[in-house]
Amino acid sequence: MVTTHHEELIRLRREFHRYPELGFAEFRTQSIVMEYLGELGLDPRPIGGTGVVATLRGCEGGRTVMLRADMDGLPVTERTGLPYASCNEGLMHACGHDGHMAMLLIAAKILVSRKEQFSGNMKFVFQPNEENAGASILIEQGVMADPHVDGVFGLHLWSALPSGTIDIIDGPQMAGAYDFSLEIIGAGGHAGFAHKAIDPIVAASAVIQAVQSIQTRELNAQDPAVIMFTQVVAGSSQNIIPESATLRGTIRFLYEGGEHILEAFRRTAEHVCAAYRTECKLSIILGNSLLSNDPRMASMMRDEAAIVLGREGTVSRHIRTMAGEDFSEYLRFAPGAFAFLGVNNPDAGSVYPHHHPKFTIDEKMLPVGTELLVRSALRFLAPGA
Ligand SMILES: [Zn+2]
Ligand SMILES: [Zn+2]
Repeated sequence: MVTTHHEELIRLRREFHRYPELGFAEFRTQSIVMEYLGELGLDPRPIGGTGVVATLRGCEGGRTVMLRADMDGLPVTERTGLPYASCNEGLMHACGHDGHMAMLLIAAKILVSRKEQFSGNMKFVFQPNEENAGASILIEQGVMADPHVDGVFGLHLWSALPSGTIDIIDGPQMAGAYDFSLEIIGAGGHAGFAHKAIDPIVAASAVIQAVQSIQTRELNAQDPAVIMFTQVVAGSSQNIIPESATLRGTIRFLYEGGEHILEAFRRTAEHVCAAYRTECKLSIILGNSLLSNDPRMASMMRDEAAIVLGREGTVSRHIRTMAGEDFSEYLRFAPGAFAFLGVNNPDAGSVYPHHHPKFTIDEKMLPVGTELLVRSALRFLAPGA
């Protein structure tokens, strides 16, 4: 496995780890990234508020490949007890984005030193607020243009996968996810005279039941999907029928065209509410688009992963998850691939899931991820790729 730049990678990762910042508030983080890229001789500029983009031009014109890292920490109180644990009370890099930034900075450093060896451009993108779909603002602000991006690579350190493993599948990999809020409006009244009121709670419970049949009767059993109610809000006292009830939750799917579930959900909710004499207001908003890897890009990245890992590691292709990831938004504009980099290693204390207060990573995998980014970018720009 690769061991170059090990110390600097760890130093950078721990520096980011100490000072986690929430999405769109990554001010300190942004200034470190800007300064580092500036010192490499690049011309970084802020984008999307607290994001950063820098373009490296090779020796001649050509296609453009983009590498992306996310920047945000989480509202989690760290309990790792590590010497470089979070200094920002109540905030933590509990998803590994600190490592993503360190890897991309070192990848940029290596690629700058090799710019005579490729034609085309490389765009280094540091994206804020991944946890809450921050990618779209960068796209609105032109991250995919000037120069136009032809291909995208990204990766995520992955706690469910053993260290030494890189997993990249073809096609759908991370869920398309929508959030819904359904307000059911009845008519309030005394609990003893239900016939004088219109009870939104009984309507809400009927909606929750009826929606289950979308999954069991309308969807192909081979198409993975989740329709989950996560919040039920209604009522103020035991003897009052409330005016309204609100249901919130998430609809997720892992196959192309899963958006048809949204219509089935709307139809079911509206008709059930009407049957219970209530009115309803439904809003469904996009969380993350389906993340679907382009098979050619995924295959390129797997080839490079096999070289980086050598005989000591494993390249697999099996992880599909109902978690969302806004890397998907870039893939709506250019083909790309997203890799999971295993960091689960009991010897390194890295056994806790993402977003856990004791989450940590096996830092030995940072050079591997860095080299994977470097090689994938060079491979994309190589003649005939
Ligand atoms: Zn996360
Ligand atoms: Zn993450």
